Amino acid sequence: MKPQPIPHSPMSSQKKITIIIPAYNEAIQLRDTVREVSAHIPASYAYRLLFIDDGSVDGSWPILQELAQTNPQVQALRFSRNFGKEPALVAGLLEAEGDAVIVLDADLQFPPSYIPSMLEAWEEGYDIVEGKKAARQNEPWLGRWGARRFYKLFQLMTGLDLANACDFKLLDRKVIEVWRDMPERANFFRAQSAWVGFKRKEFTFEVADRASGQTKWSPLKLIRLAINAFTSFSAKPLYLIGLLGTILMVLFIILGITALVHWAKGTAASGFTTVILLQLLIGGSILLSLSLIGLYIERIFVETKARPRYIISERAGQGFEGENK
Ligand code: UDP
Ligand code: MG
Repeated sequence: MKPQPIPHSPMSSQKKITIIIPAYNEAIQLRDTVREVSAHIPASYAYRLLFIDDGSVDGSWPILQELAQTNPQVQALRFSRNFGKEPALVAGLLEAEGDAVIVLDADLQFPPSYIPSMLEAWEEGYDIVEGKKAARQNEPWLGRWGARRFYKLFQLMTGLDLANACDFKLLDRKVIEVWRDMPERANFFRAQSAWVGFKRKEFTFEVADRASGQTKWSPLKLIRLAINAFTSFSAKPLYLIGLLGTILMVLFIILGITALVHWAKGTAASGFTTVILLQLLIGGSILLSLSLIGLYIERIFVETKARPRYIISERAGQGFEGENK
């Protein structure tokens, strides 16, 4: 599927903004989200709130339909099942119209009060305006520690510094058009939007408490996201396997020579411990390396299957031109 160019009408001078909001089981939150976000968009802009219902099972869809019916600024897509936040962002970015998009979470943890200053920075000429989390104090320490380790390793492997990065971003039309030419199945929005470059501005914000409900990420989903992120952005771990192999070979040669010398001198010890340790070490590193290669083969497998990244089952609301989406 070739992405369509973003419709843009030069006739009207009013700039158009689409706010992309992925939502998974956020039913009790949606009305407040629409009210809060709308209240912070300056009157000089035309806008759409584009909700992506990521296969919610808590009755979110009828609420989104009703919101779209009563409020011309609300648009919604419904996935046929839960695909995850990354595919939801992909759908939002592919479907969004207008001159810029802003990505927000449905739970209002990214305060909509920053929207006016993000738009101001955009008007000054920045193509990407991105939020950095000031502190992760509200999150459990294990999560914070895990995130820090992940980003350190990610930077080491890819050179992209994503520390405290999140998905709270404004992207200009031209960035989205470039992003649309990245057809990979394994998306990691945060890293992709760092990779594309462009004129960028950062701002720091305090992450608000979740307005309602619980986090929609399970530890397993997070680990999956981290593995995807690594294997789609860096092949360095594969080189590390080669390095590990070389080190083990050198050790093997040194140990072999000393064993031969001992044998020649007739002082060979019955060193079973050494043998067992070595076997464990070599066996362990072979298995680790194989599983690492397996992860990359899985990536290739997923990319070559080229399945759609999500399936839209229903739509509600209208775009800027009044067309039924
Ligand atoms: N989300 C989603 N699909 C998922 C998980 C989460 O669309 O499978 C949405 C969720 O509804 C929210 C945003 O992604 O709008 C961020 O999720 P959440 O607040 O649960 O993550 P946290 O803030 O705890 O990292
Ligand atoms: Mg949240």
